[in-house]
Amino acid sequence: MTSFPIPVLGFAAYSGTGKTTLLEALLPKLTAKGLRIGVFKHAHHDFDIDQPGKDSHRLRKAGATQMLIASRNRHALMTETPEKEANFFKLLEQFDLDNLDFILVEGCKNLSFPKMELHREVIGKPWLHPHDDNIFAVASDSDIIESELQHVDINDLDAICALIENFIQGTSATKPATTTSCDSLSPAFLSVEQGLDKILSTLTPPKSTEQQSLFNARLKVIGQDIISPINVPAYCNSAMDGYALRGQDILDGLSSFEVVTEILAGNGYSAEIATGQAAKIMTGAPMPQGADTVIMREQSQQNGQSVSFSVNTKEFKVGQNVRQAGEDLAQNSVVFNQGTRITSPELGMLASLGINRVHNYPQLKVAVFSTGDEVQAPGETLNDHCIYDSNRFTVMAQLERLGCEVVDLGIIDDNKAALESTLLEASTQADAIISSGGVSVGDADFIKTVLNKIGQINFWRINMRPGRPLAFGHINETPFFGLPGNPVAVMVSFLAFVEPALRLMQGEKNWQPNKLKAETESKVFSRLGRTEFTRGIYHLDEFGQLKVRTTGKQGSGILRSMSEANCLIEIPPHVEMAKEGEMVTILPLEGRL
Ligand code: AMP
Ligand code: MG
Repeated sequence: MTSFPIPVLGFAAYSGTGKTTLLEALLPKLTAKGLRIGVFKHAHHDFDIDQPGKDSHRLRKAGATQMLIASRNRHALMTETPEKEANFFKLLEQFDLDNLDFILVEGCKNLSFPKMELHREVIGKPWLHPHDDNIFAVASDSDIIESELQHVDINDLDAICALIENFIQGTSATKPATTTSCDSLSPAFLSVEQGLDKILSTLTPPKSTEQQSLFNARLKVIGQDIISPINVPAYCNSAMDGYALRGQDILDGLSSFEVVTEILAGNGYSAEIATGQAAKIMTGAPMPQGADTVIMREQSQQNGQSVSFSVNTKEFKVGQNVRQAGEDLAQNSVVFNQGTRITSPELGMLASLGINRVHNYPQLKVAVFSTGDEVQAPGETLNDHCIYDSNRFTVMAQLERLGCEVVDLGIIDDNKAALESTLLEASTQADAIISSGGVSVGDADFIKTVLNKIGQINFWRINMRPGRPLAFGHINETPFFGLPGNPVAVMVSFLAFVEPALRLMQGEKNWQPNKLKAETESKVFSRLGRTEFTRGIYHLDEFGQLKVRTTGKQGSGILRSMSEANCLIEIPPHVEMAKEGEMVTILPLEGRL
């Protein structure tokens, strides 16, 4: 939801609080500030804006499922949805977003999107915000509110306006008494996209490059455009086994040619091919001077030193079956742009050009550690109520996939001084630091205390599953990623946030995860407003259709399912769930884990 192109703000209140009256008073104040406002109102299921007897009403009753009525001054689309109520997020898309600054929503208090709670004591209803994480501010006439949320007087329209304006600008007017982090005022949850945007906006691509021998440059990112020192092919050569000759001779109707030589790949012929002459030539052999065309051997009959051709003149072209010098790549043209990652084909291509050294961005050094009193290293005897540390290993392997150098800091035990010095040292040695565990909002874990002391770290709640908690910030300029504790959540959060961030820090340009569409064979559960990454197995069915099914139970601790899966099924925030037979987006995991 939060990836919606313009801000959407709801008013959550019990009926009788006076939502409409308040909105009616607020709208003129907001429009006076130049804001263009859309209002979404959720109404009783039998509401109708049409009137019996009107043409539009008659046509609807006669069977128009969608009825658009338009005039000079306004238009309205009425859509009948007798089967199922339309999806809130889909409905929002019907607004003409290019002509709005934000959307106010009245109603829909049970859906997940940023909201302001309206509360009046006389109504005698309980508070909504303790049960709705999406409420980021309260307007009430009560003095007693036990919350760190921003609070304004419900009768102070200017204060409410200011809150709304701040919300639209993505900032907050007032800070609560105690802030656990720089970002704890974020309205509602962050979407995956917002979380990633926030992370990427703080990072910069590398500046310096270094020179490496070709093979050592694998998995690194090219630091400056690579210019071809040669033509590819280097010389004009035959694309076929056959006879090289002057194409004009064929057009002139010549039928018999004198075979003057035979040219093998790796050899040349110094004389010129004259009219009426042909050279027997092999694929890849250099074209002799004078000749511009090759006729393939299958269309020839050679008799001693003479050859004739059965050529269909309609299909014949002067210059056919010849590869021109520089045809694939001209000398001095760009082979690979700066920002390209070097993998097997790039290595081969560079080698084919005779290039044996590459300017690439330096390898990233990433420090990794696990936290948690219950976490023990594999190989140790497991104590009661403890678990083995799997996160460090999945993270380290994912880092190696990306060509990073891994610094293994092990498991950090419950010792603030030790953690502090480890982190400070890592921040001077490594280009990034990754931890897992202990970062949930509301978690009183010692790691949070230390992170808050030595770095600028935000503790976020991402509207995704698996993987809700995420910490991100900097310790001495070094980016720090605090991943959740649950093993699957760690891997998925790595894919969603850490991988794109590291690729940017490595200097890679224009990277996007590979996404495909597949038909789902199983129901994929999600919730509106949340991005669901469900472990899936995709395959091609006998008709060539890409199909996907889930791996079954989706607990975020079930690491085995990550091994069974070959993709993640991504259900975006505006989709409630996917039913069997529907098309879903999948992210193949090959090459990423
Ligand atoms: P936390 O976010 O620290 O509350 O951790 C959430 C869950 O993940 C708990 O069940 C932890 O035991 C588990 N967990 C935390 N760290 C690790 C780890 N390094 N390896 C495996 N599981 C972990
Ligand atoms: Mg923990």
